[in-house]
Parts: sequence; structure tokens; C-alpha cells
Amino acid sequence: MLRALLLAAPGAGKGTQGQRLAEIYGVPHLATGDLLRQHVANGTELGLEAKTYMDRGELVPDKLVIDLILARLTGEEPLRGFVLDGFPRSLNQARDALEWGRVRRSTFHAVISLAVGEDELVRRLLERGRQSGRTDDNEVTIRNRLRVYDGSTRPLLDFYRSRGILVEIDGTGPVEDVTSRIRAALDRILGLPYEGTIGHLVQANPRGPGQGDVPGLLRRVAQSLADLGPVEVTGLTLDREPTETGPWYSMSVYFRRSV
Ligand code: AMP
Repeated sequence: MLRALLLAAPGAGKGTQGQRLAEIYGVPHLATGDLLRQHVANGTELGLEAKTYMDRGELVPDKLVIDLILARLTGEEPLRGFVLDGFPRSLNQARDALEWGRVRRSTFHAVISLAVGEDELVRRLLERGRQSGRTDDNEVTIRNRLRVYDGSTRPLLDFYRSRGILVEIDGTGPVEDVTSRIRAALDRILGLPYEGTIGHLVQANPRGPGQGDVPGLLRRVAQSLADLGPVEVTGLTLDREPTETGPWYSMSVYFRRSV
């Protein structure tokens, strides 16, 4: 089960790649920015406090973010696999994350950094702001978020490089190409039988319709295998993660193409 962190500047594609990787490897995608925006939208106390920092492009204080993410990662049945996006973002957070990982024997397999030049980052963020209306995607806040990234988050590259788990990926070009570069690196690290894996994740939520279920998961896996053409299945994992809104099921299928 993959445990990976995406560590890159705003606009480098963490959210997009994080969702794609989570689907491929069959693990949840946890984005602190999304979790914080949910709190803001729900008007919670945490959301109100976080908003003042987010609007300025500053980091939300460590304590708030650590409590938030800790509630998702740990708890009675800790997540064994995940793609983390946007946490840790400061050395303090990174040290805390390493400590929990050690205690639970679940440190990161890989930290993926996506390299994208600053002009391209600003261009992408302004475009996203126009399309999604994200209030922190305006030029003044964008510049500040890039400064904050350089000052507080960039030092984490060395932190993980010195631990031998940093994977540096060119984050430019078509989204699919970036995903392929990341997958090639992750599959090597995880020692998966190449030529590849497909993974699917569904939430089986007894309280809500249309959330997917195990038969739905199997149908999606079967369809993906059918789309691949003749393959030999070399491994299979099925995992269940309980969450507040019902269990998640994920399945990964390892395959080699048979000719
Ligand atoms: P993102 O969606 O990852 O760009 O995050 C949006 C905003 O949420 C950031 O500009 C920060 O204000 C806040 N944020 C997200 N993750 C963290 C974190 N790990 N530590 C502190 N602030 C964070």
C-alpha cells in the first residue's frame, strides 16, 4: 500500500496528480488545502481561524493543521496507505509526521517533488483562479504563497533528500506524461512486478446512494483489465479502510502484458 507525499509549489499539479495517483494505487488522497476549505465552507471554528491565513497566502499555524491531519491519518484504525498533498509544509510538521510514521511503522515510501518554473506556476494559478473562483488564486496572494513555499516548504526537499526518499519529477508537459513519470519511479520504489498496476478505490456508504460499492469496484477493475487487452495478473490486494462516512474499499491489480 503506497504511502507517498507530493511536495511542490502551489500550481505545480499536486492536486491533479494526487487524485490520479490515489486512483491508480487504490489509496485515499488527502489534501490539507481541501480539508481546510471544507472547514471554511462549513463555517467551523477551525475554518474561521484558518481563513485569515489562507486569504493572505500564509501557512495556517502548525497546531491547527497537525490536529486536522492527525484525525484523518491516525485514530483507532490508522490509514495504511495514502497520497498526501500539502502536508507537511514546514519543518515542524515534517518532524511530527516522521515521528508518527516511526511510531506506527508507516513512514513514507516516497516524497515526490514536481519541478515547474515560476512563470508557469503563476500562469496556471491565475488560470485556475479564473475558472474555479478560488479566492487565494489572485496575483498578490499567489506571489505570497510562492514566497512562503520558498521560505517554509522548500527546505523539506533537503530533509527528505537526506533520508533518501525524494523523487524529483519534471512537472511540465501534459498531465498524463507527468503521471507516467511518477508511476515509473514509484513502481520501481515499491518493487512492483512491472509492467504496471491498476488500482481502484470506492466508498461503500450505506447512508448515501451512488457512492459505489464492492460489486461496483469489481466492475471497474474488470473494465480496466478488459481495456488493457491480454494481461497476466501477477498480484492482487483488497483493502478496507473505515472512515466516518462509511468504509472505503480499494483494490490494486498487478499485471504483466501477455503477448
Ligand atoms: P493548497 O490547497 O494546498 O494550495 O492550500 C491552500 C492554503 O491552505 C495554503 O495557502 C495554506 O494557507 C493552507 N494550508 C494547506 N496545507 C497547509 C499546511 N500543511 N500547513 C499550513 N497551512 C496549510
